[in-house]
Amino acid sequence: MDERMKRVERIAYGKAVKLHVFMPSSRRVWTVVGRKHEYWVHPPHFCTCKDYYFRARAVEGSEEKEKVSCYHLKAVAMAEGSGMVDGVYFHDDEYYGFIRALIKMIYGGVTNS
Ligand SMILES: [Zn+2]
Repeated sequence: MDERMKRVERIAYGKAVKLHVFMPSSRRVWTVVGRKHEYWVHPPHFCTCKDYYFRARAVEGSEEKEKVSCYHLKAVAMAEGSGMVDGVYFHDDEYYGFIRALIKMIYGGVTNS
């Protein structure tokens, strides 16, 4: 197995993939705790990491965009596919507070790196 797949496995099976479920609407928010930051991942087509951003930008406007991925998106797919993820449940009333905190954390990660 190559190094990149090993890294995806480490993320997927190392409890770094988190699923937040808001009830009763069943809204789902995925995050992945990376080496430096926690990332907001919206599978299969979005991650807040720099890697995803630049890969997506490089193929912007082409059909390749559908195939852009990153370690975090791959780890979410692997963890979900193998049933490794325990969802953490919240009430819908907590959704906006959660998103606010998540954005603040991402913003902090961007401005502090
Ligand atoms: Zn990513």
